[in-house]
Formats: sequence, C-alpha cells, structure tokens
Amino acid sequence: MTERFNQPMSGNAMPRFAGTATMFRLPTPSELVGVDVAITGVPLDIGTSNRAGTRYGPRQIRSESVLVRPYSMATGGAPFDSFQVVDGGDVAINPYSLEKSLGLIEAHYARLAAARVLPISLGGDHTITLPILRALMKRHGPLALVHVDAHADTNDVMSGERYTHGTIFRRALEEGVVDARRMVQIGLRATGYSANDFDWARSRGVHVIQAEDLWYKSAAPAMAEVRERIGTAAPTYLSFDIDGLDPSVAPGTGTPEPGGLTASQGLEIIRGCFGLKLVGCDLVEVSPPYDVTGNTALLAANLVFEMLCSLPGCRRR
Ligand code: MN
Ligand code: MN
Repeated sequence: MTERFNQPMSGNAMPRFAGTATMFRLPTPSELVGVDVAITGVPLDIGTSNRAGTRYGPRQIRSESVLVRPYSMATGGAPFDSFQVVDGGDVAINPYSLEKSLGLIEAHYARLAAARVLPISLGGDHTITLPILRALMKRHGPLALVHVDAHADTNDVMSGERYTHGTIFRRALEEGVVDARRMVQIGLRATGYSANDFDWARSRGVHVIQAEDLWYKSAAPAMAEVRERIGTAAPTYLSFDIDGLDPSVAPGTGTPEPGGLTASQGLEIIRGCFGLKLVGCDLVEVSPPYDVTGNTALLAANLVFEMLCSLPGCRRR
C-alpha cells in the first residue's frame, strides 16, 4: 500500500456497514486537482423502455461497494496504488427532461475531460452513454467501443423518439462519435423487433458477438480478438450494460433477457480490456427495486473495480 493516493477506508478502521457509503469508501473532493479517475453517478432513468428504477443505481452500487477491497487476487491489479481515484458524486440531471439531461451530462463530462480526469460512470439507464461519448469524442476524436449488452441499442426511434436507452448507439454511429470498425458488441441475444435487428450495426462494420457464441466457453479468446481488432493506440470506451449478464446473476435490471453471460465471463471481458487504451467506462442499467438480494449491485461494484484494474498503467502486484 502507498499513501501517495487515496485508499479505500479499511473495514478494520471503520466497520464496512458503517460510515458514509461513498464508492469504494473513497473521498468525495470538491476539486478535481490531481484526480486521475472520478467514479461518477448518473441517476437518470427516464430513457428506459420497460421497468424503471435505475435512478437508484448509483446509490445502491456505492452501498454494496463497501465490501470491495483494494487488490485483485486474480490479476494482482492494484488500482489504488496506481491512480488517484475519487468518488466524483452525481450529475445533477433534470428528472423532468431527458433532452435537458443529455446536455447536463455532456457538460459535466466536458469539465472532467478538460481536467484530464478519466470517467467511470454508474448508471442510470443506457441513455447516459451518448452524452458521455460526445464529451469524450471532443477530446479524443472518434472512439473505439466495447459494448456489453443483451441489446444492440441501435433502434432508429422508439415511440417516435430518437433519444432513448435503445437508440443511443445508432446515434453514436450516425454522429461519428464511435468508429464502427473499432466497435464490438458482446452478449446480444433474445427476441427482436425484427429478425435483422443486429444487422444494422453489422452492415456498418461493427463486430457482433452474440451471447450464444460464448455459451459454455471462456470469453478470453474472444477478447484476444477484440484487442487485435481495436489495437493498443485507439482511444477506447467500455460500456457495460448489466443486462448483458444472465438474469440469474444480475436480476436487478429493467429489460432482463434469459441466456446471458455468466458473472465469470463478465469479469473475463473487462479483464480482457487490459492493454486497450481505455479513456472511460460505464456500468449501466442496475435497477435496485428489482434487486432484492443486492447481488446485482454487488456484482456491478466488483465489475467497476475490474474496470479500474484494466485502465492503462494499472500496476500488477
Ligand atoms: Mn443497453
Ligand atoms: Mn440492455
């Protein structure tokens, strides 16, 4: 352990069930000076199409994150010896206006980008990813994207609306925010509006790995191919919709689909992003009202820890 960077408060110093439930029990400074990574909540759920409740996601993930310790026993990842990580608080979205909220989110992430702070975001529904990508694109140029999800989120409109949690990657590709040739979708499955729902992205060069392609297998070989495709130099964003995982391990979400990825495959996918030039990550669609055991939020907190471990420059002990 080094005192150079913020350390999660130890469960030996203050019981894990006590104290203020910040993300990983980290400080929440009001200034961004010296900060490398800000874990930021975006409690927006007015872009969702089915069950709501992801507005409570950031709080619940923070609450369950108190059990996460500073070192990965699998990879040796030591993010809190590597970066100054803070709980960046929440974006003050407008709960009455999705359109205004998109602007508020983009402005918040533009400030983080200007301060050269790498954002890891807690959703919120998946709509939050579009303004985050827009803000990061302005700093880094078009982004490579690793997108884990049960759904393609490439509908043109939903109920006539262009901005929803199911249309964001159509917009991102249309706007050139994401480089289609360096975009991978992993975990897609279940039933579609039409039989060719996954083909719009494929026709633009996006690589789609359906859930069935990974059934009964390790996801590690697929991730080696993903790293090959994206390369080590392209600024890359990781967007992880918790419904990419099977409802048996992540039931607390708004649009669950059977036959999804296992928790281990989720870990392999994030660990497989080590070596990419990650410039931001999110973990979206955790809906605590449907998470009666808290396991979805607990898994989400551990996946966010793995994201920290996969950031460029994270030390391995
Ligand atoms: Mn999604
Ligand atoms: Mn989804």
